[in-house]
Amino acid sequence: MENKLSWKNFVGNDATVSRLKKSLAEKKFPHAVIFSGIEGIGKREFAKICAAVLMCDNPSDGEPCGTCENCVAMATGNHPDFYVVEPEDTKATRVIKIAQIRELQRETSLRPLKSERRVVVIDGAELFNKAAANCILKTLEEPVSQTIFILLTANRANLLMTIRSRCITVNFDKLSTAQIYEVLLSQGIDAVKAKTLSVVADGSLGRALALEKSGGYELRNEALTLVTQLFSHELNEEIIFAKGKIFEKWSRENFSEFVTYVQKILRDIFFIKSKKLYNEDLKEKFEWMRFPEKTLYQMIAEGTQAQRRVKSNANLRLLAESYLMRLVRSLD
Ligand SMILES: [Zn+2]
Repeated sequence: MENKLSWKNFVGNDATVSRLKKSLAEKKFPHAVIFSGIEGIGKREFAKICAAVLMCDNPSDGEPCGTCENCVAMATGNHPDFYVVEPEDTKATRVIKIAQIRELQRETSLRPLKSERRVVVIDGAELFNKAAANCILKTLEEPVSQTIFILLTANRANLLMTIRSRCITVNFDKLSTAQIYEVLLSQGIDAVKAKTLSVVADGSLGRALALEKSGGYELRNEALTLVTQLFSHELNEEIIFAKGKIFEKWSRENFSEFVTYVQKILRDIFFIKSKKLYNEDLKEKFEWMRFPEKTLYQMIAEGTQAQRRVKSNANLRLLAESYLMRLVRSLD
């Protein structure tokens, strides 16, 4: 079996990888560390590899051996000394609660079961509620010698200063468009699609893969077609009805996402000179699509209205057709 937990499978951030590998090889890995960087660049995977090395019986040169009892347990995802805390969904938001930290503290008060060490990963560490943050602070202040903490955050500035000051921070950079493109190609995604996805992902491989999986790429193309048709005044009743027939078969979520793509394109056209675009790869196309400001305002307002109606019980085909007709009317 291929040893999946290896640095070889990790893309990008080469200097950071070799620095951490070295600290693992020299047994100088910090007892509490923050991995900071945008969503979808592999911080969690990175933490797992570190954990595998830290718990492995025979690590060599900062790599896990892949065959010992600890490595096998890590690879199958059920090592008893690898502990992950994740934010829980509440009604309004996602948050790490004090009950989760208490449970973690009970766990860390015991000796590790299988390995000489325990590794605790706290994902979304900026999402502690206040009580939980104060509670974890105590744990970080009084280190349990055999436990190593790895905190993951996409928003380090929102972490309590007191927590930040007790951890070493390791920063992860965005991946380059070329790096994301290579990975997408290696996963069998065709070159044209991979090129677009790698740009839209804005440095996040996870985002590129999610877009590919959710059909976001196709939805964005559909949105671009619509805006192009609006621009060239091609969107007549016949086309609107034909589109209505297609939208009728979509889920409400897909339609809503489609409207979001239209909104982002319109926003990009609006801000083409002044802001970073959502669809940087389409900039050249957008340069040609000049709509009067008033028209753009009106079309974006129609999109907001359509989003609201998707959430109600309105018939999807009717509301989709009415959205398109209102967009056409905005052109007058
Ligand atoms: Zn091992």
